[in-house]
Amino acid sequence: MKISMLALASLVVGAVTLTVQAAPPSPGVQYQAFKIGSYSAIALKDGAIQEPNDAKSFVVGQPTAEVAATLKNGGAPGDHFDFSIQPLLVHAGAHVLLFDTGAGNYFGDIAGKLQGSMAAAGENPAGVTDIFISHAHGDHVGGLVTPAGTLAFPNATIHMSAPDWKWLNGMNAETAKNVGITQVTALVAAIRPKVVPFEPGAVLLPGIVEAVEIKGHTPGHSAYRIGSDPNSLLVIGDAMHSYVVSVREPSWKVAFDTDQQTGAASRAALVAQSAATGQRLYAEHFPFPGVGKIVKSKKGDTWVPETLH
Ligand SMILES: [Zn+2]
Repeated sequence: MKISMLALASLVVGAVTLTVQAAPPSPGVQYQAFKIGSYSAIALKDGAIQEPNDAKSFVVGQPTAEVAATLKNGGAPGDHFDFSIQPLLVHAGAHVLLFDTGAGNYFGDIAGKLQGSMAAAGENPAGVTDIFISHAHGDHVGGLVTPAGTLAFPNATIHMSAPDWKWLNGMNAETAKNVGITQVTALVAAIRPKVVPFEPGAVLLPGIVEAVEIKGHTPGHSAYRIGSDPNSLLVIGDAMHSYVVSVREPSWKVAFDTDQQTGAASRAALVAQSAATGQRLYAEHFPFPGVGKIVKSKKGDTWVPETLH
């Protein structure tokens, strides 16, 4: 008896030693689990982008001093914008849902950590059943393919709005480069067998996921509502980028929007509606993990992140 307990103890010690010696977490890999009603969700860090406050890279049509003042009032540096990149994974019954896929290898070392973050969270890419793409920009579709160009999530149906799928299909190399896609022909060829285009606002998985059209960012930009009220989560895609400027000054135009006027109007409507209803949001470019609400105060509308454990 004593001997077998000793043997067990050394086995455990051996296992601990092995665990310690196993791969240390890669830089930039991060995940955060949380709940959407009865669903298990995981925010998955892919990377981060920075843009200067120069009246052309992000906010356009406003004096940079005014933009800097707004950023500083919101507790951010005034000279640049920080954008996180964080796809979202959700277990809903037998479905394993992935909302956007990060930048893959399109942005170099600053992004492309989705696979590492998934591994750290114990998630298997082959287990993903459905991918929901908010829009066809490099930091959202790049992770659909591996660096070798094969499908990164081989068993997943790829849901993309019909207008964005059409847009991506007709994209020339120069336009693609401008939206962060370095190999558009290879991307389209790889994902074509898996893409199921949908009409804007369609119910995609009844009771689980519906598309919510938010116009202006790309021809078919789509948010997604997960679950049902009062426990729903709205994945906003790129309707907002900056947790300070996009919330406090939503009607400022931004360079990233294909139709800047419409994008600004959509953003202002989304902020007003979210503040009025208290809708829980998932913002892919807000500080990690990007879960929270917009709250109206005397100072205006403010992003209030949720504390997750
Ligand atoms: Zn984006």
